[in-house]
Amino acid sequence: STEQLKASIPSLRAKDYKSDVKPVWCPGCGHFGVLAALTKTLAYLELPPEQVAVVSGIGCSSRLPAYLAVHGFHGVHGRALPLATGLKAARPELTVIAAGGDGDGFSIGGNHFLHACRRNQDLTYIVMDNEVYGMTKGQASPTTQPDWCRSKLTPHGTGMRRFQPAAIALAAGASFIARGFAGDPNGLTRLLAAAIEHPGFAFVQVLSPCRTFRPEQQEWKQLVHACELGPAHDAARAAELIQRDDGLGLGLLFEQKIPVYAAGVAADAADTLTAAERLAAIEAEHCR
Ligand code: SF4
Ligand code: MG
Repeated sequence: STEQLKASIPSLRAKDYKSDVKPVWCPGCGHFGVLAALTKTLAYLELPPEQVAVVSGIGCSSRLPAYLAVHGFHGVHGRALPLATGLKAARPELTVIAAGGDGDGFSIGGNHFLHACRRNQDLTYIVMDNEVYGMTKGQASPTTQPDWCRSKLTPHGTGMRRFQPAAIALAAGASFIARGFAGDPNGLTRLLAAAIEHPGFAFVQVLSPCRTFRPEQQEWKQLVHACELGPAHDAARAAELIQRDDGLGLGLLFEQKIPVYAAGVAADAADTLTAAERLAAIEAEHCR
């Protein structure tokens, strides 16, 4: 029986989800903590490696798939979410995780982020946010403070207000929003497990310090705090709470169970329907 088969297979440990490739991240980079938390999460959820796919764009954090012993795809800059969306539509039985950084996800990939939030396909999106482009040597990213002036490109700061990932995800219709910290692997493991188990689009912003270009982020260890927002199921209340948030509160910020996007519906109908009927079916499905 399946039960006997399951019992005969020794359960996997976190290290079994690590590949043999040695990370090239700088010593002390926060992304090591995310890698450790993700492998612990996959082991905790007992997900068979062949049932998991991790998809990324470009950046230091986007190297993640190479370091995992699950299916991986290292795509092009900013396109982790379109790749993950297509993969999940074609292979709905897979657990699909998109991962990357703040530059990749919120700048060039910002538009994809908005639409992934409102589509509510069953995906997990991990953004390792260090408020900088690390791979290209430390330029300001969408989440950089307006007065951060250590980059030669912005010697007087960017002068622009920061992208607010949690507030924007909420406004765009995300059904699960959480914030974790790379220096808190146990807390992050719990959030990632909840995100993967959430039916629908789960967005996890992970504060992941860049040791090399933002050494001051080492202070995050002292500054992060348990989130006072708590799971606020009412979107209006969550919006109010997220607005008051200082960006360093950790925990589940918002969760709501809403219908999950299913690509199969329109595709099945396409076999037997005329083009006009197909359009009507798609509209009926999506306007519910
Ligand atoms: Fe990590 Fe920054 Fe080094 Fe990139 S540049 S590997 S983000 S410490
Ligand atoms: Mg970054």
